[in-house]
Amino acid sequence: MTSNVGYTPADKGILIVLSGPSGVGKGTVCKALRSCTSDIVYSVSATTRAPRQGETDGVNYFFKTREQFRQMIEQDQMLEWAEYVGNYYGTPRKFVEDTLNTGKDIILEIEVQGALKVKQKFPEGVFIFLLPPSLPELESRIVGRGTESEETIRNRMSVAVDEIAMMEHYDYAIVNDQVDLACSRIRSILTAEHYRKDRMVSKIQHWMAEVKK
Ligand code: ADP
Ligand code: 5GP
Repeated sequence: MTSNVGYTPADKGILIVLSGPSGVGKGTVCKALRSCTSDIVYSVSATTRAPRQGETDGVNYFFKTREQFRQMIEQDQMLEWAEYVGNYYGTPRKFVEDTLNTGKDIILEIEVQGALKVKQKFPEGVFIFLLPPSLPELESRIVGRGTESEETIRNRMSVAVDEIAMMEHYDYAIVNDQVDLACSRIRSILTAEHYRKDRMVSKIQHWMAEVKK
């Protein structure tokens, strides 16, 4: 890819934000994306929530105490952070910036308040909202995952409705009816985004500069 468009090291990767209500399948779809493409880097968030069974520190999340999380904020280590159903979640800034600077695309799987903060800093990012086929299906996925208490499920479902209302701030909305279809929809979006005129202009500017010398 780099050679035939004269990509320069200054060309940045695309920042992709994937949001959607709890249980819609963001993690599942990202896992499927990982297995079918090696071109995308995944940001690992920090959180104060307790690890679920099978989750590993540094892989699924960086699990932090509230004090550690607060220090990360104070030291300006977070690109964004938000409180979600009683816990803090945030995106470590440096990894995202370093990845984009090496020309690689990166996905942030984050909730809507954080996504809006990222949009202010990266208006050129690609914002994708994942929708469930229906609200009853959403609830049955959260319940089926078996990781949350009844109270947490109720809280997450009530937040879900407000989150879906925020969809208007996103560039794309795709339904996760089947994981493989949702995955290929995201890949199609990314292919198209790579060929947006604005992104191509910055890639070929140095050709013009050479010709005019
Ligand atoms: P999120 O990361 O959005 O909270 P998960 O990826 O943990 O959601 O998925 C929640 C549950 O829904 C999991 O049990 C997962 O296996 C299931 N799931 C995800 N996508 C689908 C789908 N397209 N069809 C049926 N079940 C799904
Ligand atoms: P969960 O507890 O189910 O893993 O995540 C709860 C919510 O927090 C999900 O909507 C998830 O996308 C979001 N989330 C995960 N990491 C981050 C983050 O770094 N920042 C923000 N703002 N939200 C996050």
